Amino acid sequence: MPALANDDFGLHDDDVIMDEAVDKAIFRSTIMSSQDDADYGTLLRMFYQRFFPYKMYFNWLNYDTLPNKNFFNREFSFTLASDVYLRYNSFADAEEFRREIERLQPVKIDIGAIYTAKPKDKKQLRPQAFQPVEKELVFDIDMTDYDEIRTCCSGGAICLKCWEFMTIAVKVLDEALRQDFGFKHLLWVYSGRRGVHCWVSDETARKLSNDSRKAIVTYLEVVKGGAQASKKVRLNQLLHPSLSRALDVLKDYFPQLILEKQHVLAEPETWNKLLELISDQVIRQALDERWQADPTRSAQAKWKDIKQQLLASNYNEARAETVMREIIFQYTYPRLDDNVSVHINHLLKSPFCVHPKTNRVCVPIDPQTCDSFNPLEVPTLARLHQELNDYNSPYGSGKSLSDIEKTSLAPYIKIFDTFVNELLKEVRDQKRGKSYGVLK
Ligand SMILES: [Zn+2]
Repeated sequence: MPALANDDFGLHDDDVIMDEAVDKAIFRSTIMSSQDDADYGTLLRMFYQRFFPYKMYFNWLNYDTLPNKNFFNREFSFTLASDVYLRYNSFADAEEFRREIERLQPVKIDIGAIYTAKPKDKKQLRPQAFQPVEKELVFDIDMTDYDEIRTCCSGGAICLKCWEFMTIAVKVLDEALRQDFGFKHLLWVYSGRRGVHCWVSDETARKLSNDSRKAIVTYLEVVKGGAQASKKVRLNQLLHPSLSRALDVLKDYFPQLILEKQHVLAEPETWNKLLELISDQVIRQALDERWQADPTRSAQAKWKDIKQQLLASNYNEARAETVMREIIFQYTYPRLDDNVSVHINHLLKSPFCVHPKTNRVCVPIDPQTCDSFNPLEVPTLARLHQELNDYNSPYGSGKSLSDIEKTSLAPYIKIFDTFVNELLKEVRDQKRGKSYGVLK
């Protein structure tokens, strides 16, 4: 199966063009971006020149400071403003990567796998000599998978009410990946518009086979079945410790998010959808009739009615509680895009891209403070440009602060630096351990 690009921008997936056509494509790109949105092109150039954190980005994907196969055998794909899609690029080091980014001005950068050879040499290699061997374990959570639940927005739109679904996803998955699998190096990233990505960068995660990736996804997946299935969660009465831990998070959010902000029990259309998760039609009908007869009944009271009605209809406490939990899970547990996680050669949009529709930077999110992360406050290109100008005008440009430190991008870069430094520290410790013969 061919690796597909994450299609956040709705681009075609395997429109690979040959080297000789690249220059033409860049030319076409420049023309198109100046026709479409002159500002975006100019501001993007500024971003790649002054803000993109090349050095730490290289250190991350190289897993060391001196270039090695982790970096030079790594696939990068670029989408240009003209929709031209360039796959199988690879670079010797951070400097070469920077030069090419500044030349191409891609509107999107995708990161692929580490191969057995340099991706840019792919055409000269036999297929057996060019195989994907490692990649971070990645997760993609997209708000459009919540469209059947959320009532505030749909499609590409988001607001602070529905963003809470992403906060829950970060918390639940971050805990599960750390506690159940022992991963330590997780980079959470805002996708620039309506979702989050996670890059699990531990060495053990990078070396997982497709089958092992699939096993982890299956373990984490609770909400199953496509758009056609109404009941997507089935739980045992005795919850697995991992699910019980997730439930603690979900329960914190459910009343506010689902009952108050999304008003799921306010209208017959949405409450009947929720009631469909109860298999007994008599119970569903009794609740529906009761709520229709009392339009002023609060969402909290209706939520309690459900359990009371179950208990009054021969459900014992444990069975009634399980039904309530299934509803909570179906309405709040993270929805995963399997394909992105399972296939080692699947591409995923890189951190620090700038989304062409929102103009927001794909910034890292600290899972410890994800409750206060506000996607609508993530810096846009225009804002970074403004902040740079505002800073430089009163103080002059001779200050020792870097461009990043002069802007609201700084705290996000700090999260990234901390993540990369922890990775590098582990690599150094391992090397030291090896040289003293502590580790095998
Ligand atoms: Zn919303």
